Amino acid sequence: MSEKIANEIILKGISGSPGICIGKAYLVDSEGVDVVERYHIKKNQIQSEENRFKAAVKKARNELKAIIEDSAKDSRRNTDILEAHRVLLKDKMLYGKILETVKKERINTEWALKKVVTDVKSMFKNMSDSYLKERAADIVHVSDRVMRHLVGAKSKNIAAIDKRVILVAHDLSPAETSQIQLERIMGFITDLGGATSHTSIIARTLDIPAVLGLDKATELIDNGDIIIVDGSAGLVIIHPDEQTLVQFYERKSRYEEYQAAITRKSHLPAVTADGLRLQVMGNIELPEEVVSVLDHGGDGIGLYRTEYQYLNRFNFPNEFELFDKYKEVVEVMAQRPVTIRTLDINGDIAVAYASDIDEPNPALGLRAIRYCLQRPDIFKTQLRAILRAAAFGNVRVLFPMISGYDEILTAKRILNEAADSLASEGAVFNRDIEIGIMIEVPSAVFMADVMAEAVDFFSIGTNDLIQYSLAIDRGNKQVAYLYNPLHPAVIRMIKHTTDVTKDKGIKIFMCGQMAGDPINIPILLGLGIDELSMNPLSIPTVKSMIRSLNVEDTRLFVKDVLKQNTTAEVMKLVQSTFGSLISDKIYTE
Ligand code: PEP
Ligand code: MG
Repeated sequence: MSEKIANEIILKGISGSPGICIGKAYLVDSEGVDVVERYHIKKNQIQSEENRFKAAVKKARNELKAIIEDSAKDSRRNTDILEAHRVLLKDKMLYGKILETVKKERINTEWALKKVVTDVKSMFKNMSDSYLKERAADIVHVSDRVMRHLVGAKSKNIAAIDKRVILVAHDLSPAETSQIQLERIMGFITDLGGATSHTSIIARTLDIPAVLGLDKATELIDNGDIIIVDGSAGLVIIHPDEQTLVQFYERKSRYEEYQAAITRKSHLPAVTADGLRLQVMGNIELPEEVVSVLDHGGDGIGLYRTEYQYLNRFNFPNEFELFDKYKEVVEVMAQRPVTIRTLDINGDIAVAYASDIDEPNPALGLRAIRYCLQRPDIFKTQLRAILRAAAFGNVRVLFPMISGYDEILTAKRILNEAADSLASEGAVFNRDIEIGIMIEVPSAVFMADVMAEAVDFFSIGTNDLIQYSLAIDRGNKQVAYLYNPLHPAVIRMIKHTTDVTKDKGIKIFMCGQMAGDPINIPILLGLGIDELSMNPLSIPTVKSMIRSLNVEDTRLFVKDVLKQNTTAEVMKLVQSTFGSLISDKIYTE
């Protein structure tokens, strides 16, 4: 302990939401739900156990209802997730199974809850898709809430915090995160959670710094400790010394000045010093995030990941539900482009909900377009909703994980059938929309010339292109050191794809995370990418970078980049040529 007080400790986690805050730590944690007793009950006790469970669920639902009503007063807060938690409380897989377990196994409710949740949780956790994996967290949050009522433990009362602090928690559920009062909470950090967790999505919407996945923050930090949270770098510093504090206060004010300056200009177009206009778009997962895209000066939606509408529930959404969500986005964006990507889930989601597919390696399995082509009913429902929403604005459709030309032809055929069926019903829709594919599988890069004949645009998904071409599981920490968009092979693949599009006269976009990091922009500009799409918060910085570049210079620069043999050499060259444009403004020491 004394050593801990004497020395500053630096923890590295996952950046949940950018920005820097410095202040006192406030530990929040729920109590009493980890240790659960197991005991047998007699036949005549079954009914009272059931009643206890039902009462606890009712209390949990009412509690969530109150939080939802409170949150709904603030338009920035996303209540969809909480609504989904309320639905989850009554879900057959949990609710029904728990009651059944109490009855069949004659065990107490707490133990039945723990048992069922552990099973369901492991089903989600075994999925390779990191997004789906994190849905296991939703189940834990929901069951913890019920368990607290069963055992009479107190929950974290975040809404009642009356000091200006930084929250430190083992985990924060979306419900807890959504109780954060912006005037009191400066930022938060958690031991668990990842970049695609709901909690980090809420943090980004609230626009407060957050670092997640720190493993041991709650063990190392005491109430009242001074900590620095650098949400941009995913760093937390405990007991910073005088020098570090000064350095981070300066960094913080530079960051804020810089953000203010670039945000002031973020509504202006991104035009290079020599006059080339680039479209800078936002990636969204939920319709609510559209506001953030507009606030940060986005020219449109370059990637609408539609998985959310399928994941926070346990049955497939119908056409009307999907249409509503798409129409909402399309209308808010007025005539700006909205690129709706069709469902990108792997086979495991069907295991979770329809429970008939089990794959040993889902990342290489029945994912995205492959799944949709095997389930034309599900696919057509989504396509009909997209075509109907297209009547209200500027919609593009984007097919994920295309690995062969025939997949495009089949997807287009089903799209046509969806349009024909709408026409025969006299529905309001628009079939005249741009069609694109994600370039995220190496075979698509090599077949780009053929594929370009069948579509209007390509969108490079570097997150998966890196995973599949460099053989690096994008969620595996062990090989994360190899995961770098500046690998010469990745740059060559982007170059080849871009060259093909110029030759064939179609547009080339990028929506993978590579597009949102300003240091990559000189290369992407030099290679000739037409449109970049990213997390909305990155838009102002990327626009600012574009303005400070000259296309002709970047083209010449790319020639040098292509002569480099290793990632390290490329990084060194980029840093030495353009690093000052970034570090001068944000992180100069
Ligand atoms: C990508 O793979 O780069 C991409 C944008 O898609 P996702 O991250 O949703 O797989
Ligand atoms: Mg992808």
